[in-house]
Amino acid sequence: MVQILNGKLAADHLAEEFCETIQLLKKQKKIVPTLAVILVGDSAASQLYVRRKQEKAESLGVEVQLYKLPSNTTQMVLHKLIRKLNKAFDVHGILLQLPLPPHLSRVDALYQINPLKDVDGLTPENIGLFNLNTPRFIPCTPQGCLYLIHLWRKNISGLTALVVGRSPLVGTPMAKLLLNHDATVIQAHTHTKDLGALCKLADIVVVAVGKPKLIQGDWIKPGACVIDVGINSGGTDRPVGDVDFEAVSRVAGAISPVPGGVGPLTIMFLMSNIIRAAQLSSVPS
Ligand code: NAD
Repeated sequence: MVQILNGKLAADHLAEEFCETIQLLKKQKKIVPTLAVILVGDSAASQLYVRRKQEKAESLGVEVQLYKLPSNTTQMVLHKLIRKLNKAFDVHGILLQLPLPPHLSRVDALYQINPLKDVDGLTPENIGLFNLNTPRFIPCTPQGCLYLIHLWRKNISGLTALVVGRSPLVGTPMAKLLLNHDATVIQAHTHTKDLGALCKLADIVVVAVGKPKLIQGDWIKPGACVIDVGINSGGTDRPVGDVDFEAVSRVAGAISPVPGGVGPLTIMFLMSNIIRAAQLSSVPS
């Protein structure tokens, strides 16, 4: 029978551990881990994601400072705020909620963030450290996917992994993370030919595309582990993933559901990066 990789349960388990670490930081080092979140514009989806992160952070004892900027904010104003937060002693992590309104450059803004406060792991310094396999902050969603894969198999050395998607936030760091764990990695994207044939080769399939039910049941190698990162509107309140869950469940050895799979763990690994940033702030440079 297929193993359902329950991200909600795993996140609850991690929450207990993180809560204890945060209490220790407060008690022993007098540090209250604090996250500054910058939200530009009024996208309903972004507001929802920020609210979820804020609620989870506060429930664990992380303080959140929310900076809401109007959608006509200029690049200069955004950079000025980031530079102010870079210098603020009471801020350990800075999260710029993406996507930004189209007139703003995501790359230019991200590159303003102090790498020691870059809890999404998206500044050039942190991408470089990660690519050298000496990470400071690993992007949260790939960490969540790897955690789920490890619920299926502790050791993935030598397994063939297919990552579908190559975004800087998910697909590309995911492929690198699997490589760092000694998997043999194939990465697919919009120009890939015959995705189904590549899927059939893979012991692990991670899908981060944003197309409902892209991955079909008869593409999956029997017993494979399938991680669905996609969040798509399914026409109801309940989102749907990039994987045809029903069909793939009949063939796969393990599968993550949507919702309740990768999502809750993405938030938990953001918490883990905030804790790390707070710990780093007490190390003399
Ligand atoms: P993105 O749009 O930046 O990247 C999508 C990638 O998919 C691109 O690299 C593109 O080349 C690839 N792609 C598109 N069509 C393809 C096809 N037919 N075959 C192969 N590759 C194809 O998106 P993203 O930020 O990487 O997010 C992907 C999905 O994951 C979205 O649905 C997003 O909402 C979701 N997401 C979920 C979480 C979570 O915590 N669960 C976190 C981040 C993103």
